[in-house]
Amino acid sequence: MDFDSLFNTQLDDLKSEGNYRIFAELERACGSFPRAGNHGDGPDQVTVWCSNDYLGMGHNPKVTTAMSDAVLKYGAGAGGTRNISGTNHEHLLLERELADLHGKDDALLFTSGYVSNWAALSTLGARLPNAVILSDALNHASMIEGIRHAKCAKKIWKHNDVEDLDRALSECPADATKIVAFESVYSMDGDIAPIREIVEVAEKHGAMTYLDEVHAVGMYGPRGGGVAEEQGLMDRITLIEGTLGKAFGVVGGYITGSVALCDFIRSFASGFIFTTALPPACAAGARTSIAHLKESQIEREGQRRQVARLRAKLDAAGIPHLPNPSHIIPVMIKDPVKCREIADILMESYGIYVQPINYPTVPKGTERLRFTPGPLHTDADIDHLVGALSALWSQCALSRAVA
Ligand code: PLP
Repeated sequence: MDFDSLFNTQLDDLKSEGNYRIFAELERACGSFPRAGNHGDGPDQVTVWCSNDYLGMGHNPKVTTAMSDAVLKYGAGAGGTRNISGTNHEHLLLERELADLHGKDDALLFTSGYVSNWAALSTLGARLPNAVILSDALNHASMIEGIRHAKCAKKIWKHNDVEDLDRALSECPADATKIVAFESVYSMDGDIAPIREIVEVAEKHGAMTYLDEVHAVGMYGPRGGGVAEEQGLMDRITLIEGTLGKAFGVVGGYITGSVALCDFIRSFASGFIFTTALPPACAAGARTSIAHLKESQIEREGQRRQVARLRAKLDAAGIPHLPNPSHIIPVMIKDPVKCREIADILMESYGIYVQPINYPTVPKGTERLRFTPGPLHTDADIDHLVGALSALWSQCALSRAVA
């Protein structure tokens, strides 16, 4: 049997649609982020414009020192699952730090944000009596997979549409345990959920709320607790989920909630039980990053400044971008092949790295370049980016917006 021909047929389909993904082979340069060495086509050094290390904390000396000290102190890996020799003091310190960040009684660590959503939602849906998960239509793949794996009843409500959620909740059976699952910042459009209204509707129907703050933790709220912190709503949300791999700059995921909720997931979730714990050094780095961002406003202020600056410069150049209240700037191309081509030219001719975002990450016809300005992008970086985009807009005859 020629298995490779089976694989290649489907890969060829992806290639012909323009949706085949190609890695950029980079070397993020510690201390000079967002610069990175480039091993692919184009200049030897490029500027990264699409990183989820939103605040540059992956390069913060406090964080890198905490990690390297911890490697020397505890060794490289955790050495086991959390239950069998893998729980290090650092994991518990980090869980306490996370519970405090979100004003909750407890927290539970996972190896990634993806795994935390998958494990928590699948466990809640599978084990709670007559569970119905009500999922926002644009929820992340990790939540969708968790819900799928729960094999419980589910209802999809229209994206950010509180009336539709209200309707869906009122159609649930009287004895249902209802779980409303949604995100705060949606990472591809950069829009923000009406959290207060969602919580109010959920409370009206006696539903539990499950909020993914992956693209908000570290960046929103006075201590980086996310949009729910910014809006004073953390105590009204049953479970807040987040990542340590984006604004906190390390790796890992977590949930926070009541002691009983975290104990329940800890005790029943296979995605928690049957996998090696995070390296203690990652826990130490993440804890240092969280503690720093609880106090420091410099990174958040710098990010907001550069986001506003890039938006204003794009407007002045007539480069259309999706308006939203977050830190994510999607420039719509609406064609997978053009999107790839523009990204290639930006990399090769201008030393600007932005990954094209194509299907299935976004629906077909909404392909885009997704820019994430951070506090370490300089004004000159922004001018260079907008100059390059402007030249390409003329070269590729793309339409401009009225400034
Ligand atoms: N939730 C959302 C909304 C995401 O966008 C992502 C990843 O991009 C995740 C969860 C997964 O987080 P992690 O990258 O830590 O696995």
